[in-house]
Amino acid sequence: MGADQGRFDLTIRGGTVVTADARFEADLGIRGGRVVQIGGQVRGEREIDASGKLVLPGGIDAHVHLTLSDPPGDSGEPRWCDDFHSGTRAAAGGGITTVGNMTFPHPGQTLRAAIERDAAEAERDAVVDVMLHPVLTDPATQPLGDIPALAAEGHTTLKYFMSFGGFRTDPEAYLEATRLAAGAGMLTMVHCEDAAMIAHATDRLMAEGHGAIANYPRSRPIAAEVSATARAVAFAELTGAPTYVVHLSSAGALDEVRRGRRRGAHLAVETRPLYLYLTEERFAEPDGAKYVGQPPLRRADDVVALWRGLANGEVDTVCTDHAPWRYADKVVSGMDVTTIRPGVADLDTLLPMLYSEGVAKGRISLHRFVAATATNAAKLFGLYPRKGTIAVGADADLAIWDPALTKPVRATDFQTNADYSPYEGWEVTGWPVITISRGDVVYDNGRVTGSRGRGTVLRRGPTASL
Ligand SMILES: [Zn+2]
Repeated sequence: MGADQGRFDLTIRGGTVVTADARFEADLGIRGGRVVQIGGQVRGEREIDASGKLVLPGGIDAHVHLTLSDPPGDSGEPRWCDDFHSGTRAAAGGGITTVGNMTFPHPGQTLRAAIERDAAEAERDAVVDVMLHPVLTDPATQPLGDIPALAAEGHTTLKYFMSFGGFRTDPEAYLEATRLAAGAGMLTMVHCEDAAMIAHATDRLMAEGHGAIANYPRSRPIAAEVSATARAVAFAELTGAPTYVVHLSSAGALDEVRRGRRRGAHLAVETRPLYLYLTEERFAEPDGAKYVGQPPLRRADDVVALWRGLANGEVDTVCTDHAPWRYADKVVSGMDVTTIRPGVADLDTLLPMLYSEGVAKGRISLHRFVAATATNAAKLFGLYPRKGTIAVGADADLAIWDPALTKPVRATDFQTNADYSPYEGWEVTGWPVITISRGDVVYDNGRVTGSRGRGTVLRRGPTASL
């Protein structure tokens, strides 16, 4: 150990290192963007005093929606208000060092062309590292032959929606895409809501004059999520595909996953912050549209089931589905269940809210927190052990965490371009004070210090089971 003394670029001294399965006091020595020494004598060019702080693996938020800074007018994609620059600034500010973006092909664009497009934008603008998930929206124009090629190029995920697009008319193509993805070592990510049930419920509400936002949950009923989840589980069983259910929101959908796992299906479950903190009564508030995501907020018993699943390991990850809007675009008078704008900003708040409501309130252990916000995603998305843990040889992606810092959620403090938070005013205990990405301090006590374009697009290995 002595031989390395004085040769570190950065040292972190006096902190408590926490991983998914260990907790110990140790100084860290960082060189060339990686952790090269844990414990022993460390002295570096630059030292961070982490006494009284936790040193956590940087967060991995595998599910975000960032917009091109200059999208073509006909892209058909919603204009979320964060691009790769502001979105990854928000990540850095929230202790997150890797984000996974949903890359939607524009009309007529192939999956590979869409990935090339977003990769160029991310390499130019990102402050932290980025993985890209190609989204299959239209098998008629997006050749499935791209799927193994994408995996070979290090993009080892495929995302699709059961709730809209080509799935409704051609589910067989998606079954074949799932089979191809499995064969290429990819993780298939599925939005599980049944399109026909949503369309029918929405049409009935509108026909009966009940299209107000207060009725939004009835437009996307739990049954639509449960049946689609069962179908995704069946696809996983038929093809052997490791399958990741994005933003699972209900106890019933979790039951389907539990049954599928018992039969041997390779399933992973993501939930989303909204479903852990809020219930459907919120939509009756005068500006209830600000809470709208897909699926909707659910009932109190669903919230209890998700926390239990998070504590016992049935829920593997918590990711934001960060899809940010400005308040004036999100809450528009006269909006109904057909004109809502789904999605909220959550990159700045994912980790602090989960720490405060989960760890500080005793609902989940600190190790489960690290597993759900970093380690499990690293394994599932082909990044482990380079990312998602603190180990010699791993990327120095770290959040220096103040477990005692209490302050209210205030959107004006945040890096996202969204100007409101669904948790505005909540008292939160536990915040990142410094975020480090590959050995660079990218966020320091309220200020983003990472430069635009230092982030990189990650080439990933095959998905690994947990
Ligand atoms: Zn999403």
